[in-house]
Amino acid sequence: MFNFNFNNSFHNLSDDFYELCNPEKSIDPKLVIFNSDLANELNIDTALQYNPEYLTGNAILPGSKPAAHAYAGHQFGHFTMLGDGRAHVLGEHVTEHNERYDIQLKGSGRTIFSRSGDGRAAIGPMLREYIISEAMYHLGIPTTRSLAVSLTGDNVYRETSLPGAMLVRIAQSNLRVGTFEYAVRTEDKDNIKQLADYAIERHYPEIQDDQNRYLSLLNKVIEKQSKLIAQWQSVGFIHGVMNTDNMTISGETIDYGPCAFMDTYNPTTVFSSIDQYGRYAYNNQPSIALWNLTRFAETLIPLIDDDESTAIQYAETALNTYRDQYIQHYMHIFGQKIGIDHITQDDFQIVIDFLALLEKYEADYTGSFRKLATQQFTQLDIYNNEDVQEWYQRWLAFIQSTSNEQEAYTLMQSVNPAVIPRNHLVEEAVSDATMANDYTKLHQLIDAIHNPFSDNHDTQYLNPAPPNERIYQTYCGT
Ligand code: AMP
Ligand code: MG
Repeated sequence: MFNFNFNNSFHNLSDDFYELCNPEKSIDPKLVIFNSDLANELNIDTALQYNPEYLTGNAILPGSKPAAHAYAGHQFGHFTMLGDGRAHVLGEHVTEHNERYDIQLKGSGRTIFSRSGDGRAAIGPMLREYIISEAMYHLGIPTTRSLAVSLTGDNVYRETSLPGAMLVRIAQSNLRVGTFEYAVRTEDKDNIKQLADYAIERHYPEIQDDQNRYLSLLNKVIEKQSKLIAQWQSVGFIHGVMNTDNMTISGETIDYGPCAFMDTYNPTTVFSSIDQYGRYAYNNQPSIALWNLTRFAETLIPLIDDDESTAIQYAETALNTYRDQYIQHYMHIFGQKIGIDHITQDDFQIVIDFLALLEKYEADYTGSFRKLATQQFTQLDIYNNEDVQEWYQRWLAFIQSTSNEQEAYTLMQSVNPAVIPRNHLVEEAVSDATMANDYTKLHQLIDAIHNPFSDNHDTQYLNPAPPNERIYQTYCGT
């Protein structure tokens, strides 16, 4: 039905890992947004959009075996048992190209893993996740994706009563560092091996025959995450809740809560209202990723070698490569951002100097890089400063001496987005939808984020918020 091709390999694992259970029924499901492009990519029939009962779990697709997944995680550094407390994986859909994706409902009701929550989601956070995950995708950053958001017809109670909604989320899998942390804490010693073998088969089949495939798994995840975090940094994305349960094994960005893109460049930026100590600030993201990877490595110790100290040594050696890999990716992308394809460590100072000027003059991060790429940098206010002019002349001379100037601009325009989902626009679009049931701005914003590397947009999408509309704090609103 609707061309779904379900094959639920996760259910071959021990039933410690999931609980079969159906989503809670919704009163009156109504679709508000459907991602036809994504449906086409997945070979799913777009007629699905006219059947919101399937997008909210009121009706179950043939072959679907809804389940809530078990996992644990370190939240702000503290270990907790978690699991899908308001989500159901409907099943794994296998495309014509033999790609496997979890189809998940988020906001689909309580499960045995629910703690105090109601199992539901309000429309605002689901629309936020839709917008930001799709923006990340179009920026070329690995991410889970959003197929649809529907209103459920129920109200949910947060600080006030809000329309309830459900998101259909698509992921390469829902395996998280937290799934591994859970596995080692179950009674069955075989669970961690089962899970690691499953993760390898699903995400990294190329390492299956490696001499030490569990060490290879660790290396693969380190590789993926070091690149992912460098990509986040390059567009000023702040995840906001980098708990270990929100870090995937596939290397996709997952769980968009109080995340946001930085407007004014300031590396200490924190948006999330619950992140009081700035644990997940922009400039902490690279080291937090390593902290999370270390928790992941710990779960693999019994598999890496029978001798614990040998295993620890191997794992430490692997973790020690993270920093260099991250720096390589960071230097590569930031070199490209200023027009140099393979920047050397010695030359990288020019990037550092530019970032220091952006910080000093509180300049718009996205706009400054984009204007540099489109040769309009000298029109920006920041250019009135003598040290900025000096930097600019030094940079121009550098570009002219090291590369083809035109190629440098082309490269820069391909990596420096003109459009990011700016907080004030996201808030405005979400607020119109929530408060006035008006989706005009939401659709316009989604259109804009589909083409982030084009300047051909209404100026509101290109410019930072006017000072009175700036947003400094975001909320989970779960
Ligand atoms: P998150 O902050 O989305 O990563 O969620 C962390 C944990 O809280 C997960 O186990 C979620 O399932 C659970 N959770 C979040 N919101 C709710 C809710 N409204 N009802 C039940 N569980 C929730
Ligand atoms: Mg989560």
